[in-house]
Amino acid sequence: MRVFITARVPEEVLARITAEHEVEMHDEDQPIERARMLQGVANKDGLLCTITDRIDRQVLERAPGLKVIANNGVGIDHIDLEAATARKIPVTNTPGVLTDDTADLAFALILAAARRIAEGDARIREGKFKFWAPLQFLGWKVTGKTLGIVGMGRIGQAVAKRARGFDMKVVYYSRSRLDPSQEKNLGVSYMSLDELLKEADFVSIHVPLSPATRHLIGSRELDIMKPSACLINTARGAVVDEKALVRALTDGSIRSAGLDVYEDEPELSPGLANVKNVVLLPHVGSATVETRTKMALMAAENLLAALRGERPPQYSQSVNSE
Ligand code: NAP
Repeated sequence: MRVFITARVPEEVLARITAEHEVEMHDEDQPIERARMLQGVANKDGLLCTITDRIDRQVLERAPGLKVIANNGVGIDHIDLEAATARKIPVTNTPGVLTDDTADLAFALILAAARRIAEGDARIREGKFKFWAPLQFLGWKVTGKTLGIVGMGRIGQAVAKRARGFDMKVVYYSRSRLDPSQEKNLGVSYMSLDELLKEADFVSIHVPLSPATRHLIGSRELDIMKPSACLINTARGAVVDEKALVRALTDGSIRSAGLDVYEDEPELSPGLANVKNVVLLPHVGSATVETRTKMALMAAENLLAALRGERPPQYSQSVNSE
């Protein structure tokens, strides 16, 4: 069968797919352009795509025989699930393998924002570290503080586990409440979003982007947060109203933020890059050699299973609920 791969995958993964199918790949690091996407997907049986691709009706119309959309990533907000489901095309993703890395990165951002790590590094490189002084370059304590987790799924739970090592009190808000034994094991307690925002010193976002979560954190929510609070977002940019966040960081409604994702990636909202009290990363939650290889292998296994006519191991939740 014929497969289109929209972004580079590791050699071993490419070899795994070419062993069974005819492959065309957009062999560049730059995200694929729309015209190339439409031309590449035409009449293919399998599509292995990634989170920067927009997989909409127009793309699906180009490939009437498409049998699977295998996403190399866990978030699937860039795929028109309704259109895929209407055509009975399974959409798969790569849950689980990137949980630890993304949770590690959320914690890296918590520490970086609180302890001013990026600022400190920049200061040294600018030749401005001239002496040590007791009241110079002070940050804020992480150990023992309250962490509020919004979205207690795989990554949210992995962040909660890490927080234990920092003796943090962990509260959470999520669509579904964990059962009492899970809450006890993780050492977390449930509260409403507003209560969490009022109480937490660090708020870390781990919900998927959906119509229900778009701008879940806007001006109102930022105003509810403590003026000393820090907002961490490693989920999807549009879960936070980024313009409102720039305002909140500038006018002191909250103290700091750590971001891995942006509302209009890779563009930043006006002023965000000039805000001092925010740590900015270029969407690297799952970016380790080990995990990116596992993700691509998982996406390939999903693709190959569907092309063999089998149920792919990782259906997306929406197609699952068909
Ligand atoms: P997950 O296991 O599905 O967890 C998501 C959690 O959010 C679930 O507990 C879910 O509740 C909850 N949720 C969904 N909709 C909600 C709503 N409207 N209000 C409140 N809670 C809601 O997903 P995951 O693997 O942890 O990944 C989470 C997200 O992280 C992904 O969707 C992706 O966008 C992002 N991500 C980013 C990176 C990166 O590179 N920065 C890497 C990996 C993932 P239920 O239990 O009711 O479903």
